[in-house]
Amino acid sequence: MLSSVLSKSQCAACKFCCSFRRQSLWETPLFPPEVVEKLSKPNEYGVVGVFRAVDNLRCNNTVDEPQKNCAGRLVLENNYRTDDPEEEVPCTFLDPQKGCILKGEDKPFDCSIWPLRIMNKDGKLVIALTPTCSAIGAVPSQALVELVQNGLGEKIFEYAKTHPYIVKEYKEGFPIIL
Ligand code: SF4
Repeated sequence: MLSSVLSKSQCAACKFCCSFRRQSLWETPLFPPEVVEKLSKPNEYGVVGVFRAVDNLRCNNTVDEPQKNCAGRLVLENNYRTDDPEEEVPCTFLDPQKGCILKGEDKPFDCSIWPLRIMNKDGKLVIALTPTCSAIGAVPSQALVELVQNGLGEKIFEYAKTHPYIVKEYKEGFPIIL
């Protein structure tokens, strides 16, 4: 979705947003219920993910299957090998050579809009830039602002209406674009 301002080769060479320090676990990928269902058992990718329901109240669940039909956050907490706060663990679906192994239909929307984020700032939804993407930079370029203002922002707001779990609390230092 950001291919006009961020090339695939830049992302392939970096993969920063697919690895997580403990302090970044709030950013691990969020998957819709049908993809959680698919990826939490043996699947075409040969990799099974572990997920935690992100919003139990909205799940269409049952007592017997409390996590069924829930959107899920990928659980990586148990993959750290040291106590070093700088240690990074890769996303379960990251291949060190090929990058993300997921096809477009299974890739989280959140990943496809990185480093953009939809956030709740004082009760209002905003589109903000995560300032740590080295390719995009900490300040939104004119090209990125135009991309967001000319349709992408609206697409993100629309997606969040049906997938409200992607909305994050606003963080200081994230420039607001829309
Ligand atoms: S799902 Fe794919 S794009 Fe998203 S963090 Fe994992 S490897 Fe990266």
